[in-house]
Amino acid sequence: MERIAWDQYFMAQSHLLALRSTCTRLMVGATIVRDKRIIAGGYNGSVSGDVHCIDEGCYVIDGHCVRTVHAEANALLQCAKFGVPTDGADVYVTHFPCLQCTKQLIQSGIKNLFYAEDYKNHPYAVQLFEEAGVKTQKVPLVDAVVDTKFAEKNAFVHELMEKLDALNVTSGEKETMKAEADRLFFNEEKKN
Ligand SMILES: [Zn+2]
Ligand SMILES: [Zn+2]
Repeated sequence: MERIAWDQYFMAQSHLLALRSTCTRLMVGATIVRDKRIIAGGYNGSVSGDVHCIDEGCYVIDGHCVRTVHAEANALLQCAKFGVPTDGADVYVTHFPCLQCTKQLIQSGIKNLFYAEDYKNHPYAVQLFEEAGVKTQKVPLVDAVVDTKFAEKNAFVHELMEKLDALNVTSGEKETMKAEADRLFFNEEKKN
């Protein structure tokens, strides 16, 4: 049986973490891996106990939300909190890291960076990774373990269903299609 590739497995984990982000300006997830083991994970979020951007709106200064700790930093800080070494570890992130996170990843001894999407890749960040000998590799998430287009697909199917209402389709055919959509998108069993 074909199993999910390691890089896809870790990248999927980062996308899962991103879904927990509390700042919707950019939903980012980061997974730190050593010897093919996940040792920490983080997402964009407020300091523990503070309000969330998704509830109160972002705290924007100079065009940046200052409330959140970035995903990469949160993953590294989790290691600091629990005393887990990060030297020589790999990191899987949903987006290319910002300058601050780049510096923190390098200082933590991260040796390989895998990212799914380019994001304003700063030339200085690219330069710093090169100088530090950190290998960077783009690994787009290809497996549908985490369906990043779920909301779009859901909206599309609903639009189709509305269009069907206006067409000359028998109610029986429509019900069959609706049941299939429910099964595919909401895991609802077919009711016979
Ligand atoms: Zn925010
Ligand atoms: Zn960052």
